[in-house]
Amino acid sequence: MFENLQDRLGSILNGLTGRGALSEADVSAALREVRRALLEADVALEVVRSFTDRVREKAVGAEILKSIKPGQMVVKIVHDELIEMLGSEGVGIDLNAPAPVVIMMVGLQGSGKTTTTAKIANRLVTRERKKVLMASLDTRRPAAQEQLRQLGVQVSIDTLPVIAGQSPEDIASRAVQAAKLGGHDVVILDTAGRTHIDEPLMQEMAEIKRRAKPHEILLVADSLTGQDAVNLARSFDERVGITGLVLTRMDGDGRGGAALSMRAVTGKPVKLIGTGERMGELDEFHPRRIADRILG
Ligand code: GDP
Repeated sequence: MFENLQDRLGSILNGLTGRGALSEADVSAALREVRRALLEADVALEVVRSFTDRVREKAVGAEILKSIKPGQMVVKIVHDELIEMLGSEGVGIDLNAPAPVVIMMVGLQGSGKTTTTAKIANRLVTRERKKVLMASLDTRRPAAQEQLRQLGVQVSIDTLPVIAGQSPEDIASRAVQAAKLGGHDVVILDTAGRTHIDEPLMQEMAEIKRRAKPHEILLVADSLTGQDAVNLARSFDERVGITGLVLTRMDGDGRGGAALSMRAVTGKPVKLIGTGERMGELDEFHPRRIADRILG
């Protein structure tokens, strides 16, 4: 594994075998290749910088063991640090709050928010035997409310009936109320997205949060998001305050660098990953697998 990076580092470092410890210059040369590998995997530049700083700290002065090649040694340090930065394994949805537990889904349009809303609802129903209500707060695109309703029918999960003309904030309040009356354990709010982050969107999210008091606020993001991942995650976290991340399209060709970028800037865990369009295609996050993928 990581033959690519290992090969590149090999040609730089392998001459060092038996030479004591890794020097600052050896490590700097190696880190140039590490940096290139991370950028190729779509990790955001500022995160690449902080990451390579951390690796530098660990690698400079490290004893060159006779048993392994220096290139392999650096790759191991890089791999371990990636896993450390990607965070814990299996951090699921936290339902530890009085019912109805409110989960608010946020993110840009097209990120997979509505699909993920239904996938999470389906998971809570089938695995945890919860009674779930879903509500679409996207009043800008009437098709969005219909899309959630149809997904609800498909997985046999209640959706909040649509009242034409109601504001997203009012729908949020009504959803929580309906969940209380309906005896639902969980209510999932599928908020509206935009093609980019703007002030009205953030204000709308903040007001919905104030009204619905969500226990979880999950940022849904496309795993193919490149350099924008940092700005996206930081904006939603600073303005709305997220509790976790869900990365979609992990079934695609992307190397998943966005996972590292968004985790690094927010410190919030990646809770789940989307691995396809179908309802069952939602998996737990395994940092080791993503680290392997980032290193390619
Ligand atoms: P929204 O605008 O954020 O609500 O996005 P949607 O939920 O409508 O999803 C946009 C498109 O992405 C749809 O065609 C989904 O089927 C697709 N999609 C969502 N999640 C995934 C995923 O994990 N993998 C793949 N391959 N497609 C996905």
